[in-house]
Amino acid sequence: MPPLTIYWSRRDLRLADNPALLAASSYAVEHKTAFLPLFILEDYMTAGDPAFQFGCPSRWFLSEALPQFASQFEQFAIVTGKGAQYLIELGKKYQLTVFVNDDVYIDFYKQITKLQNAGVNVTVLEDALSVPKDTRSGEGNLYSVFTPFKKNVWARFITYKPQPTFQPIQELSYLSSKEIPALPNLLSNTTGAIFETFSKKRLLTIAGTTLDLAELIPLQNMAGWYTTEAEALKRFADYLKSGDLDAYKKNRDSLELDAANHDETRTAYTGKTSKMSLALAWGLVSARTLMQMMQKHFDESFDNPFSTRVSEGALTYISELIWREFYRYQLFHRPDLMDTEFQKKFQGTIQWVDTETAQARFLAWMKGETGYSIVDAAMKQLAETGWMHNRSRMIVASILTKNFGVDWRWGQEYFRAVLIDLDEASNNGGWQWGASVGADPKPIRIFNAELQAKNYDASGAYQERWLRSDGAFSLNAPSVPIIEHKQAREEALMRYGLGGEGARDY
Ligand SMILES: Cc1cc2nc3c(=O)[nH]c(=O)nc-3n(C[C@H](O)[C@H](O)[C@H](O)COP(=O)(O)OP(=O)(O)OC[C@H]3O[C@@H](n4cnc5c(N)ncnc54)[C@H](O)[C@@H]3O)c2cc1C
Repeated sequence: MPPLTIYWSRRDLRLADNPALLAASSYAVEHKTAFLPLFILEDYMTAGDPAFQFGCPSRWFLSEALPQFASQFEQFAIVTGKGAQYLIELGKKYQLTVFVNDDVYIDFYKQITKLQNAGVNVTVLEDALSVPKDTRSGEGNLYSVFTPFKKNVWARFITYKPQPTFQPIQELSYLSSKEIPALPNLLSNTTGAIFETFSKKRLLTIAGTTLDLAELIPLQNMAGWYTTEAEALKRFADYLKSGDLDAYKKNRDSLELDAANHDETRTAYTGKTSKMSLALAWGLVSARTLMQMMQKHFDESFDNPFSTRVSEGALTYISELIWREFYRYQLFHRPDLMDTEFQKKFQGTIQWVDTETAQARFLAWMKGETGYSIVDAAMKQLAETGWMHNRSRMIVASILTKNFGVDWRWGQEYFRAVLIDLDEASNNGGWQWGASVGADPKPIRIFNAELQAKNYDASGAYQERWLRSDGAFSLNAPSVPIIEHKQAREEALMRYGLGGEGARDY
């Protein structure tokens, strides 16, 4: 059988700092084998099966991003199939050596084991985290609290240098243009062909009931988003130049400032936060590259996380990037967190409201019809752009779980269906945090929607921006929420078994 080296591209659509791509291409040159960069559009992505949520924004993104990524290679195969199974079948025709960047999901490791069991030579490279997955405390335990984790990994995070950018190498010989068309389930590298492969269904299954999002939530408009590595890098360079990162600590929570940047033509593209989550989620850039760009821009190593002489904005931003690492680290070690509370005392103990009430409240929440203006505005921002500001994500998660008594897993599932920057680990961590059941146990926080709106959207610009098509928003005439906060708060305390103690209103 002819030898073939594969770079198995997954969530790493970039040439810079791509360990698997570099390793695969070097191996192919060194061992004089043919080289094939390959993306498998997996069945769970294309099927539209709500059991394996791959939402519309992700379908749109891949349809746009894949052809552009592929066009940078002499040959690139986009195929459909089941990840490992596809490679096992291909291994019957070629003697395969596969290079792939790692991930934090259990399914990824199951696929790797399957490949190994089938005798496929596969090498997994470190990429998903920029700090060791096995980071442990002095006592040898895994970290469950963010701050000590951050202290431990900080030095490693800021010094982990990106790898060189992949360059077209003359000695690299691709699979021939005769052999490529013979690959099973080959798609043409066009947006249209890829988009057609996806199901057009927009379904969401919650507590055994399947909802049709196409009827409930208007189709999202993703047009303002970037889809390539070059655009993502430029966006971050512009963000640095604009001074927004320097002012990040001060401005990152402001919903008013976020609204000011959502004009009609650039739906979700600009803002006081960096909007790098999409780039990080699909690997258009690595966190290491962002770190290096900050170091160059400020001419500063940021070796002291507590220094008062360096940009506060940059230090806070690095901290946020380490939150992302923290959640990935948690999910890697605890795959069960996807549907289990991190904190034992809350596993199966919270009495969520009955299913009928929960369904009615969940529907109102999804549609942005709760009567809490700040929540409704946030849900419309998400529905329209596939993205929501972090402050809003915290607010809507707290209101759904605390005020409405709806299980956090429902909210997590809806976000999985509609976020363009879906990162399962951050989404899960965010939802567990929002429901106060996650790692890093803080006192139970009950967000007061009115207070949050006052603190982070005092002028009402954010609410006005996202509710104006309803024509209903006015700061002076607040709408009536489906459940009044004081009553909701008391019920939440009962549900959490707190009876009035130990919770703070935010
Ligand atoms: C309920 C909930 C769900 C969330 N789901 C996701 C998700 O699916 N994907 C996702 O990337 N983030 C998620 N987050 C975290 C956060 O809201 C987004 O990362 C952030 O809003 C993205 O916008 P930005 O890139 O402009 O962020 P910036 O403020 O510019 O931050 C820079 C980067 O730091 C990281 N980051 C910032 N805040 C957080 C955080 N709280 N947790 C983890 N990483 C963070 C992100 O990678 C982000 O791109 C969630 C938060 C909550 C509360």
